[in-house]
Amino acid sequence: MSTISKRTFIASGLAAAAAAGPLDALARQTDRKLGYAILGLGYYATRIIMPRFAECEHSKLVALVSGTPEKLKTFGEQYGIPESHRYSYETFDKIVDNPDVDIVYVVTPNSLHRTFTERAAKAGKHVMCEKPMATSSADCEAMIAACKKAGRKLMIGYRSRFQAHNIEAIKLIRDGAIGPVRHISTDHGFTIGDPTQWRLKKALSGGGSLMDIGIYSLNAARYLTGEEPVAVNAIESTDRSNPRFKEVEDIINFQLLFPSGATAQCGSAYTANFNRYRVSGPKGFIELDPATSYQGQAMRTALGGPPAPREPAPQPKNQFSAQLDHLSECILTNREPIVGGEEGLKDVRVIEAIYRAAREGRTVRL
Ligand code: NAD
Repeated sequence: MSTISKRTFIASGLAAAAAAGPLDALARQTDRKLGYAILGLGYYATRIIMPRFAECEHSKLVALVSGTPEKLKTFGEQYGIPESHRYSYETFDKIVDNPDVDIVYVVTPNSLHRTFTERAAKAGKHVMCEKPMATSSADCEAMIAACKKAGRKLMIGYRSRFQAHNIEAIKLIRDGAIGPVRHISTDHGFTIGDPTQWRLKKALSGGGSLMDIGIYSLNAARYLTGEEPVAVNAIESTDRSNPRFKEVEDIINFQLLFPSGATAQCGSAYTANFNRYRVSGPKGFIELDPATSYQGQAMRTALGGPPAPREPAPQPKNQFSAQLDHLSECILTNREPIVGGEEGLKDVRVIEAIYRAAREGRTVRL
């Protein structure tokens, strides 16, 4: 374990350490790596997440779950996962008998998050689930209840909370660097391709750009203010004659009002490219562009002087490895993840309000 991360980890686990007894026992326990099963071997799982276990201190890849036998073979061989630790969706429940698996990471299309989370919890496994947590708040509530009943932890894959520039932005705001947050403007979008993909099928995605990429605008507005919105306006623009948008929305822009009086102007699109936020207060602003991408974040601040680039405080790990290790550390020290099931539920509740506001053409109060 590196010096920085050990210090951070031990500091954050202080209460648990006191309860666990001697510090050397805690260090031994937390040096253990917990075993992850990755469920759903698509782009994000195989290209972005799985390679990042190499940089983890408390997490290792020990099992795979997929509906495609060829993928189980290819990635099983690549990552040295024995056949006994490769599951289909049909044999997945047998994971209950595999003591090497501590955590199941659900990386499937959105509407399947609930059922796989429930099955993982029933098998006695902790769960990491991708965003959006589910396609309805009722599903989110059922997932929280299933993990609670099984006595297992649930975390949502909000990786930006472990990313250096975003951590720095939150810290600057909490330290009062820009004064009280008054306004956030944030936009997230990309150009979506293949009209046959699951992201454009409502039954699998639950919705269009908002469920997929616009959720970053919403989540950022919530973690930057540290508040929950009390009112929502929204406007949608979708060309329904375009084969990509028969079932789901393209552009959906929304405004949030927070209890402090802060406001957020949020963009979400499947036909425009942006990934940014600016947080403004009476004393200055903090800007990230890109803000929540896989890499390349750039920060600019104006804190009582002219705008200038700013380098954030270094973090011990990249956002993906830090996210994976956070859940392992929470399990090892019996803490709750900073982005647990309730965090996923809060986003999905606001998403439902955004869709209602756009549909009904009125402000929806929360
Ligand atoms: P993908 O299409 O590349 O992979 C989805 C996987 O699910 C595939 O392996 C597919 O075979 C499998 N699958 C299982 N049942 C399926 C079904 N009925 N229909 C279609 N596919 C099925 O998608 P992805 O980009 O990897 O996204 C997966 C999840 O990860 C989504 O919830 C998405 O929102 C999330 N995601 C998160 C991030 C992030 O940065 N946190 C980035 C990308 C995706």
